[in-house]
Amino acid sequence: MSASRPDDAPWRASVLTLHPAMFPGPLGVSLCGEALARGTWSLEPRDIREFGRGRHRAVDDTPAGGGPGMVIRADVLSEAIDAASPPDDPRPRLLMSPRGEPLTQGLVRELAGGPGAIVVCGRFEGVDERVIEGRGLREVSIGDYVLSGGEIAAMVLLDAVVRLLPGVMGAASSGEEESFENGLLEYPHYTRPRDWEGRAIPDVLLSGDHGRIARWRREQARALTKARRPDLLPEG
Ligand code: SAH
Repeated sequence: MSASRPDDAPWRASVLTLHPAMFPGPLGVSLCGEALARGTWSLEPRDIREFGRGRHRAVDDTPAGGGPGMVIRADVLSEAIDAASPPDDPRPRLLMSPRGEPLTQGLVRELAGGPGAIVVCGRFEGVDERVIEGRGLREVSIGDYVLSGGEIAAMVLLDAVVRLLPGVMGAASSGEEESFENGLLEYPHYTRPRDWEGRAIPDVLLSGDHGRIARWRREQARALTKARRPDLLPEG
């Protein structure tokens, strides 16, 4: 677990990337962008290429042992990490990686409760394995597919974390009933018009009976989870 954060201090993200111009990108609009502007969180993109070698600021080289593609150099990346994060930095150091532990709502909640994160974005074939060990990088995957770089994965992680920070979501409770928060997929939502193309809003939702509505939603959530994601349900 990471250290906690005083309520008024921003949740601090430092993103190490070869493409700092991609940030804040989509994180600069809507809920996340407004929270960024308010100072609920901060975002510092850091260009790994600043630590590149030689006249061309080379950051990558051919893989030891041969094979296709290029690998981000250990010395270059470690210097970028050290510049972004002193040894006493309490923030966890993450590496976006298809080999990582899956990003879950549980991990998102854990990160949101901490002081922030250093997020390293890979490119090419990835990064030299020794940096992962030497700098204690926690590998995180956003799913079983391969992206061309870690930036979009980092944005996915940051978006999921930021919406959980205090004051970011309109109704404080709107995070609590959502998909995954209680181990189930969320029940279906309806709004106006009451009849649409011959489809009516389920009567129970218009009954005003809050007990019945809550029960119906629980049943729907359970049925949906059983049909689509039985892996989320406890055994048996
Ligand atoms: N050769 C690697 C893939 C490299 S893809 C392998 O087979 O495992 C280039 C970069 O994109 C990675 O270093 C990582 O930072 C990012 N990336 C790709 N897919 C990802 C995923 N599913 N989750 C998180 N990051 C991913």
